[in-house]
Amino acid sequence: MSRQLSAIATLASLCLVTACAVNPVTGRNELSLVSEAQERQIGAEQYGPSQQSQGGQFEVDPELTAYVSEVGQRLAAVSDRQLDYEFVVLNNGVPNAWALPGGKIAVNRGLLYELNTEAELAAVLGHEITHAAARHGAQSMTRGTLLQGALAVGTIAVAVNDDLRPFGDYIVGGAQLGAQLITQTYGRDAERESDYYGIQYMVKAGYDPRAAVSLQQTFVRLSEGRTSSFIEGLFASHPPSQERVDNNQRDVDALMPTLAGRDLEVGEVRYQQAIAKLKQTKPAYDLFDEAEKAIADDDLEVALGNVNEALELVPNEPRFHGLKGDIMVYQRRYREALTNYDEALAIDSNYFDYYLGRGVANARLNNRAAARSDLEQSAKLLPTAIAMNELGKIALTDGDRVNAKQYFQQAAQAQGQIGQEATAAFISLDVADNPASYVSAEVFADQGGRIIARVSNRSPVQLGRIEVEFAAVISGSIRRQRVAVPALPANAYQDVGSGLRFPEGTTWTQDMMNAQVVAAGL
Ligand SMILES: [Zn+2]
Repeated sequence: MSRQLSAIATLASLCLVTACAVNPVTGRNELSLVSEAQERQIGAEQYGPSQQSQGGQFEVDPELTAYVSEVGQRLAAVSDRQLDYEFVVLNNGVPNAWALPGGKIAVNRGLLYELNTEAELAAVLGHEITHAAARHGAQSMTRGTLLQGALAVGTIAVAVNDDLRPFGDYIVGGAQLGAQLITQTYGRDAERESDYYGIQYMVKAGYDPRAAVSLQQTFVRLSEGRTSSFIEGLFASHPPSQERVDNNQRDVDALMPTLAGRDLEVGEVRYQQAIAKLKQTKPAYDLFDEAEKAIADDDLEVALGNVNEALELVPNEPRFHGLKGDIMVYQRRYREALTNYDEALAIDSNYFDYYLGRGVANARLNNRAAARSDLEQSAKLLPTAIAMNELGKIALTDGDRVNAKQYFQQAAQAQGQIGQEATAAFISLDVADNPASYVSAEVFADQGGRIIARVSNRSPVQLGRIEVEFAAVISGSIRRQRVAVPALPANAYQDVGSGLRFPEGTTWTQDMMNAQVVAAGL
């Protein structure tokens, strides 16, 4: 074989190995730029931050998580693809469920309230297992259809002072990928596929597949009520429809004749037992949701009343202590906030927001070492713009310009006030180090031979203390001149004379003159 031919053969086999793969669920050949190893790695890396960004694990009821996990593993065992499946319940009142590549799955407690039987839970989990098994996340990465840009953490948009707010924050850095993967819409075909195979897995695992129909009927009914939490949760990515009910009904009808005489599990009693505690404590979580809404309306006293009431009902719920800490921070009662965050962390030391809140409170109290340690821990669990911005400010106060720049640069990825603040802070440090990256000078000479520079501020902020150094070859010798430039607004330019001039009769060329920006500041 010629060298050229063998190169072509190698390319073809590469395509077979990496770019074209057989889908383990559907058996179809498809383009895939994400390998199975990458899928597993993405799942392993993003599972933690994605859980954090959606309320963290539901720590007060570990039996519930164990139960959901057991149902999930029973389905995963009969699925078409063996992955390291994991299932968690998140402390989030929005009805939602999601799957990351590699089989990392989560269900919000807000969805569990709405289900009636174990078989309905199996329908939810079978659907999510199929998203992971059939590589739907990897496919949307291959197609490049994931949303771009920073995403808000959590589910509520709070409109109180940004600088005081330890949440309503933005994810920065690599954790944005997970946020995109769990909030994306996979598209109609993938959803249909997940419903279809989810039903097959239910049957293989011994569940009554009719629950997949009753589940969709429940969703249609709930969507008619149109509570806002449903619109932003599951229904945003999975619009309920009669078509979906009908499709599932058809799939189930096709299966039922083959299941005659088989004992199909519904598990209503088992499910109701498993969620008994969840149902019993619901009034406390409703108060918690009301408190968050009151904070959004800037009604901190109402919020505090709600949280205190919730704490009387469920004293060991760390989120209630954490939210009380947040309210204390908004009210600038930083010492009391520390106590609340301590109580939250004593129950659950794995949730970023308690560290973030305590870090902000410590920073306001000028406890810089304690603030730094809390903020670093919070960023390790979930990197957010507020944590990075606060860490930047602390580093700067401690005279550590290099780290301050790195922190501000990360926080600057975020939108909103924090992002703008961090951008300005970063530029103020970096412009002194690299003035020519922000301000450019284009040199020219006018009709009379006067050497001039067009000085442009290419940054998004006003810059001052700009100095330009001119050099020119005039009458055979090099002349230099440094000129101070008045402050320039963002994206503005100004022509600045050097005071240097080619004598009359000189034929000048561009390479006889130069202008360089040597200083700039805020
Ligand atoms: Zn889905």
